Amino acid sequence: MEISFAGKRALVTGAGKGIGRGTALALARCGAEVVAVTRTRADLDSLLLECPSIRPVCVDLGDWGATEEALREAGGNVDLLVNNAAYAMLQPFLEVTPDQFDISFNINVKAALHVSQIVARGMKARGTGGSIVNISSQASQCALRDHTVYCATKGALDMLTKVMALELGPYQIRVNSVNPTVVMTEMGRLGWSDPGKAKTMTSRIPLGRFAGHIHAVLLLISYLYSAFGKYSDPLTCFPFCYITALF
Ligand code: NDP
Repeated sequence: MEISFAGKRALVTGAGKGIGRGTALALARCGAEVVAVTRTRADLDSLLLECPSIRPVCVDLGDWGATEEALREAGGNVDLLVNNAAYAMLQPFLEVTPDQFDISFNINVKAALHVSQIVARGMKARGTGGSIVNISSQASQCALRDHTVYCATKGALDMLTKVMALELGPYQIRVNSVNPTVVMTEMGRLGWSDPGKAKTMTSRIPLGRFAGHIHAVLLLISYLYSAFGKYSDPLTCFPFCYITALF
């Protein structure tokens, strides 16, 4: 399956590190004009050293007004949006604090909604359709110890995905979520570096291991963008990830 993004503009949030960074680089290598959005300037600088064609946007997506301003131009003419930026903080349920709740929902749900609004308005106005992929998590479906708030944000993101798919479908805008299991990025290491803890999870995965590499996620994003992705059945399952809300 060969997928070319030549002539297409992709916007990736949280493109400074981990899955988002890998996605931005992979899309650029496949010919896309990539807009990389993140909040740490040094990450964007090093990303540009790796791939000078990438267009950097430095903004804290938790700031609604600053995001509106930063994406006024860069958020236009987008064919593929990957809502990847997220925040994770582990707290036992009885110790969850209001600030961690607010920060998490602000980035993981509200920012995804906002960036999608900005991009989808452009897609609708151009009449070209497009594809939006929300990077959710298996944590949306599976109760994980100390992940109360993170799990709740990803459950909310799945539901947001479904309603977006419902409302944006008539404009030929496809909206899906990719729900990976653990990938050993900075965020993945936060929750799962301890071998004992990891075992509780890997023992429930038929292949007995985590996704390990971001390529599984990249493949799904490309698939969902491609012509093949347009005709998939709802709720397609993959070994390490699954997709919800394929409309
Ligand atoms: P990382 O923590 O490695 O990277 C997250 C990126 O998002 C960073 O570049 C970070 O920038 C950026 N970001 C966070 N908050 C903001 C903000 N307010 N404004 C702008 N950028 C922001 O995460 P991963 O690559 O591991 O995760 C990517 C996605 O995949 C997330 O949605 C996550 O929930 C999901 N996922 C990850 C899994 C894993 O095991 N790693 C498993 C399942 C899903 P900065 O560092 O500057 O804050």
